[in-house]
This record gives sequence, C-alpha cells and structure tokens, in this order.
Amino acid sequence: MKKLEDKVNSKNHLPNLTLKDFVDILADGYHVETLRMISNYNNNTYLCGIHIDEGDKKEILINRDMPLNERRETILHEFYHALYSRLGRKQNEKEVESLAQKKYKELYNDKP
Ligand SMILES: [Zn+2]
Repeated sequence: MKKLEDKVNSKNHLPNLTLKDFVDILADGYHVETLRMISNYNNNTYLCGIHIDEGDKKEILINRDMPLNERRETILHEFYHALYSRLGRKQNEKEVESLAQKKYKELYNDKP
C-alpha cells in the first residue's frame, strides 16, 4: 500500500496506467462491457465510453460501433478515469485524455 500512498501524495505527478493497475481495477469489481450505445456514431454527439464509480456500482462501457483504434483508445481513457478514482485523485478530463493518447501511442504506434 505504500506505493499507492506515494502516488496519492504526489499530486503533480501524473499517474501511469500499468498492467498491474488494469488487474487491480478489475479486481475492484469493475464490470467492463463493449456494447451498442443509443447514440449514433455517425453524428457528432456519440458517446465513446462511460466510467461509473458509485462505490458498489463500478462500470466501464465502451461504444462498440467505433473503429477498433478508437475503441482501444477509449478503453485506455476510461481505465485512466478508474485509476484516478482508485487513487482518490480529482477527475480531470484534459489530463485523462492526454494520458490516454500518450499510452495509446506507446502501445500501438508501431503495430497498427
Ligand atoms: Zn473522460
């Protein structure tokens, strides 16, 4: 738990989503599903994904109508929200989006 405390205490240090974080987020009881959402991918108002953490109810939902690369990046985005929640860090959409884009590049740049 020391490592988690260190992460929480270093407010200016942006968290890095690791495989261990993925495992821990799933072990926390997240329900993760890729499904068709009501919104239409072809208009500009479609939802990419949703992160819900209401204590007992933890969910990550991904819009399955998006292309594979967008689904991948959205999964990273929503897991960053879950990580922020786990660390007790205030959600910051801009930070989460830039971290997800960075992680996506790191994972898939050479392997589209
Ligand atoms: Zn978001």
